[in-house]
Amino acid sequence: MAKANKRIEQSNLCTGCGVCVSVCPINTKLRKADEFDPDDTAKMAIRVVDGKALVNEVTCISCGACARSCPVQSLSVVELATA
Ligand code: SF4
Ligand code: SF4
Repeated sequence: MAKANKRIEQSNLCTGCGVCVSVCPINTKLRKADEFDPDDTAKMAIRVVDGKALVNEVTCISCGACARSCPVQSLSVVELATA
């Protein structure tokens, strides 16, 4: 899938609840893969690190599911300017 010209921005509202981590389709796909190692979370598109959700800009497809699901609206989808 082509990566949209968007990125996900985090704010300081995040409580680390993990809702975004569980709704992310990339994470779901990874978890379903036979070779998924629960200790290897580096490929996850979003994960909670030190009490805050952290987006992996390499694997995130900017679908916005995490932002729509965050109970405190901590994440936002930002359109990137096209050059
Ligand atoms: S970004 Fe929102 S949904 Fe994700 S851990 Fe933080 S508060 Fe929870
Ligand atoms: S925008 Fe990125 S981190 Fe958020 S649900 Fe979609 S793929 Fe996952």
